[in-house]
Amino acid sequence: MTSSQPTRGIDTSRPHSARMYDYYLGGKDHFEVDKQAAERVAEVYPAIFVCARENRAFMHRATRVLAREHGIRQWLDIGTGIPTEPNLHQVAQSVVPDARVVYADNDPLVLKYAERLMRSTREGRTTYIEADVNNVETLVNSAELAEVLDLSRPVALSLNALMHFVTDVQDPYGIVRRLLGILPSGSALALSHCTPDFDPPTWQKVTDIYTAAGTPVQFRSRAEVTRFFDGLDLLDPGVTVGHHWRPDAAETGSASHGTPTDAEVSLWTGVGIKP
Ligand code: SAH
Repeated sequence: MTSSQPTRGIDTSRPHSARMYDYYLGGKDHFEVDKQAAERVAEVYPAIFVCARENRAFMHRATRVLAREHGIRQWLDIGTGIPTEPNLHQVAQSVVPDARVVYADNDPLVLKYAERLMRSTREGRTTYIEADVNNVETLVNSAELAEVLDLSRPVALSLNALMHFVTDVQDPYGIVRRLLGILPSGSALALSHCTPDFDPPTWQKVTDIYTAAGTPVQFRSRAEVTRFFDGLDLLDPGVTVGHHWRPDAAETGSASHGTPTDAEVSLWTGVGIKP
C-alpha cells in the first residue's frame, strides 16, 4: 500500500496493531506510519518477525488438530488480522471442506479486505463481522454469527495474538468466559498471547512503544495466560511456547527457518476443550 494516502474510515495518522502485524509478516497492507512503529519495535526486539511467524504457524497447527482430532467444523476467530494466506478458513477447509468460519476484527482495514476472507469452498461458509471484542454482547448477539454458526454444535473460539490488546481493566477473563458461555460442550479455545516472561526489560520497551502509539497492551505471564483456560481441559502439551505446541515438520515457521529460542518466540499458546 502506498505511503500515507488517506483511505475512507482508515486513520493513517497513527499506527494500528493489525497493520504493524502485517509488516512483521512481510505483508504489503500497511502505511508508512505503521512501518515506522513496527521498526521501532524491531529495534528493541529483533525477533518480532520470528514471533509473528510462529504465531501464524501455531494458528495453522491448532486449526488442523481441532479439525482432524476433535471433530471441529466451526470456528469463531476474533482479531482476525489483515488477510494473510492461508487464512484460518483455508486451513480448516483443507481438512474439512464444509468448515464454517466467522471472522471478527475492529480494524477498518481488515473490513476493507474482508472479501478475501469470503472465498470459501462451496460446501463451507465464511462471514466477517466488524466488531470490538470489548463489546462482547454485540458479538454474542450478532445475527451474522447465529446465521453461520450452529451453536448447538461445537465451535472453536480462536483468539490469536488478540488478548494482549485487552488490558485487565477491560475484563479480559470475563470476555473469554462470556464467549465460551454461548458455545456447547466439545467446543474449544485456541489462544496465543505475547509474554514478557523470557525478557522483561525488552517487553517493557515493546509495551511503551505500543502505548505511545495509542494502543494499550498488556503482555502476560504464563500463569496469567493459563487462567484463560480455567474450566477447560487443556490438550497436550498444555500452555507452551508457540513453536513447542505440537510441532509439525510440514509446517512453515520453524521448519523453514531453523529452530528459534523461547525468548525469540515469547508467545504462550494453548488449546483447551470445554467439558
Ligand atoms: N489473529 C491473527 C492476527 C493477530 S494481530 C493472527 O494471529 O495471525 C491482532 C489483531 O487483533 C489485529 O487485526 C487487530 O486489529 C485486532 N484487534 C485488536 N484489538 C481488538 C479488539 N478490541 N477487538 C477486535 N479486534 C481487535
